[in-house]
Parts: sequence; C-alpha cells; structure tokens
Amino acid sequence: NCKNADDVLKAVRDYNVSFIQYWFMDVLGTLKSFQITPNELEASFEEGMGFDGSSILGFTRIEESDMVAIPDPTTFQMVSWRPTERPVARMFCDIKTPDLQPYENDPRYIFKKVLAKASEKGYTFYVGPELEFFLFADSKGTQPLDAGGYFDAPPLDMGNDIRRDIIFSLERMGIQVEYSHHEVAPSQHEIDLRYNEGLLMADIATTYKVVVKEAARKHGCYATFMPKPIFGQNGSGMHVHQSLFKNGRNAFFDPKDPNSLSKECKSYIAGLLKHAKEFCCVTNQWVNSYKRLVPGYEAPVYIAWAQRNRSALIRVPMYKPGKENATRIELRSPDPAANPYLCFAVQLAAGLKGIEENYELQPAVEDNIFKFNEKDMDTHGIDALPGSLYEAAKELEASELMKETLGESLHANLVKNKLAEWDEYRTHVSEFEIKKYLPTL
Ligand code: GLU
Ligand code: MG
Ligand code: MG
Repeated sequence: NCKNADDVLKAVRDYNVSFIQYWFMDVLGTLKSFQITPNELEASFEEGMGFDGSSILGFTRIEESDMVAIPDPTTFQMVSWRPTERPVARMFCDIKTPDLQPYENDPRYIFKKVLAKASEKGYTFYVGPELEFFLFADSKGTQPLDAGGYFDAPPLDMGNDIRRDIIFSLERMGIQVEYSHHEVAPSQHEIDLRYNEGLLMADIATTYKVVVKEAARKHGCYATFMPKPIFGQNGSGMHVHQSLFKNGRNAFFDPKDPNSLSKECKSYIAGLLKHAKEFCCVTNQWVNSYKRLVPGYEAPVYIAWAQRNRSALIRVPMYKPGKENATRIELRSPDPAANPYLCFAVQLAAGLKGIEENYELQPAVEDNIFKFNEKDMDTHGIDALPGSLYEAAKELEASELMKETLGESLHANLVKNKLAEWDEYRTHVSEFEIKKYLPTL
C-alpha cells in the first residue's frame, strides 16, 4: 500500500516491475491506458505524462488537445492478470491541462468535486456496488455457458471456474469480495464487493470490470456488462448501496426512528427520488439501458422507495439490531455500463441536494409496483423513469443540478453525444422490423 511517490519508486525497484500502466477514464466510461517504463516514473509524478486529448471522447477540442496525466500514487497496485515475474503495475491518473490545472471534463475530477462538497459538510460517502455481468461463448453472440438460475450451486460448467478466478484475481489486487453467486438469468453472475469510500470504490469498480473480462478471456469466453443482452431475461444492474458517515458515525442511522432512518437519510432518499429522471442519462447511458428498465425483471421503472420491495427504485435493506454501520440505502436503477465516477457523483449530488434543501420524503410503497395500474400510480403519486435514452437525454439537458454537478462543458457534451446516439438508433432498421413487417406488408 503506497502513500506517496517515494513508496511507489521503492515498490517498483523491490519487485522489479517491468511496466507501469497509467489508467484514466473517458466520459462514457471507456478505460484508457498507456504504459511507461520505470525510468519515466519519477519525473511523471511532477510533470505528468502528456497525451493527445483530442482523440479521447469528451476530452478537449482539437485546438487545445494537449493533456497531461498525473498518476495518483495511492492507487499503485500490481496488475493481477499479468505474469508475476517482472510484474506490471498500474496507477489511476488525474487529468490536467498543460499548465497542470485540473481538467474540467475528467470524470475522476468531477466526482472529487462532489466528494469535496460532501466533506465540507462533514460527510464521508461510502459505496457498495453490485455489478452483474453475463458470460458468453464469444463477443458476437449471446450463447450462454450454462442454464443456471439464481443462487444455483455448482457444477455449472465453466462459469464457476471463471468466478473463482475473478475472486482470486481481485483479492490479489487488494479488493475485498463479500460474496458471489449465479444470478437469475442463464450465464449471469454477480460478485459483491465490500463497501468502501466513494473514490476508492469507483477505482475498484473500474478494476473489477477489467479483472472480469481478463478472467473470461483466459477461459476462452467473453464477459459483458451490457445492460440487457437477452430479450425476455433479467438484465444486468449495478445496484449502488450508499451511506454517509459523520464523525465516524453512520449519519443515516437513528435508533429513535421506527425504521432506524435519520432525517438526513430520508432527505437524501428524497433527493435521489426527485432528481432520478435528471441523472438517469448518466446512470443508464446507452440505448440498451432502457431495455432493462422495464417491468417484470427486478429492475426498477417507477420512482418510489420501499424497505423490502425489489420493484422500487430505492430499497432500504432492513436494519439489523447492532448493525448501525450496515444502515444504508440501495439505488437499483444504475447499470454496470455506466461510468462509475460520474454514476456515483450524480447520486451523491442528488442526495446532498435533498439534505441541503430539507426535501420531504414521500411514504414507502411496499406493494409490487409492477402490478399497479395508472390509477394506483396516481393515488400514490408515482412517476416513472425515462422510457428511452431520448427522454433521459432531454431530462439531463433541462437539469440545473446536473449542469452544476457535471460542469457546463461535460453536461453539454454528454447531452449532444447521447442525442446523436439516439438518432443513430432511431433511424436504424432492425431485425425486429424486418421480421414483423416485411412478410406482411
Ligand atoms: N438483475 C436485476 C437488475 O437488473 C437485479 C436482480 C437482483 O435483485 O439482484 O437490476
Ligand atoms: Mg443481483
Ligand atoms: Mg441488490
């Protein structure tokens, strides 16, 4: 565990590290990486490593394309899928302008800004995401490796071996796994990570995705975080468990409340509910994301909260006596194909807004909302999440809170990019249409 540049330099010498990968993320969540040799390392902590930002999505206009990546020594880690002899290490980077100012469109920086706002109020943000994924025979189709279902025990072919490899690989990188299981759909899996401080968790979620893909590749198959790969089956979500701590105590916990939830927690939930439509384009950023958010597949559609009900957008896992630290809320809409930095940033921003403005929390809805008709929705005052990427992009566009959270430049960039994606999709003639219309019209 390195604390500073000197620790990193020492580790690189001690372990005879051959290369160091510099990692950062573009706006849409694609991990970018370049590697340097140990000779370049020392200088790069101060001067950074230059790269051409114009070829990276969401980064800079052509006329100001020089960007600098400054490694964060606290993220130094050996890469567990490369050989152990002369190992390869990696560090996450902060992106700066040539005069070493924070670059406004760097997702890690945007998240750090929201975290700083939380910490000004004395809060530490803890996150525990559950990233579901599918394993397929290759990257071109949806041929499953097994026909297993929820919590099915072995033997289930290769899936179990891969899951085991993933867990060992994560542990070698210092990432703690809580539990893993087969998910509801065939070939769908989930590995749950122990909760951690927000920024660290966004870095961990990024690493997790690489580890999963590498492990699958070693077994000759393919892992995907695509939100809804198979029609008629559950999609893959990234439920985000979250809480705020203040002075070492869980600020979401209040033993005097019948549900053990503090006033802050309730306003935080109210903030998520109120702004859910506005941040949906960030937590669910692809055309395909909206094929997951439909009734009947354990993914949320309606904007409500509950204590047990898995059809609600926000679930508050039941308080267990003596487990103050475990008091948390679970936002169920995000999918694992989101950019984790931006995904966590917009949730925290919405929750903090709720606390700041003292939002009132609507009553919990414990019935299965999927069975509600329009009248039920009206009586409960329940609204729905955007039904498509188009609706989500329009909500994002109109949101002052999102403009403030993401910064004007990234906000505008993202809206433009997502509307363009929608247009590409909208004009595409799909297999569905050919099958349905061509023979009959
Ligand atoms: N796969 C479901 C989703 O799309 C979640 C299943 C679960 O409750 O873990 O969110
Ligand atoms: Mg799950
Ligand atoms: Mg869950």
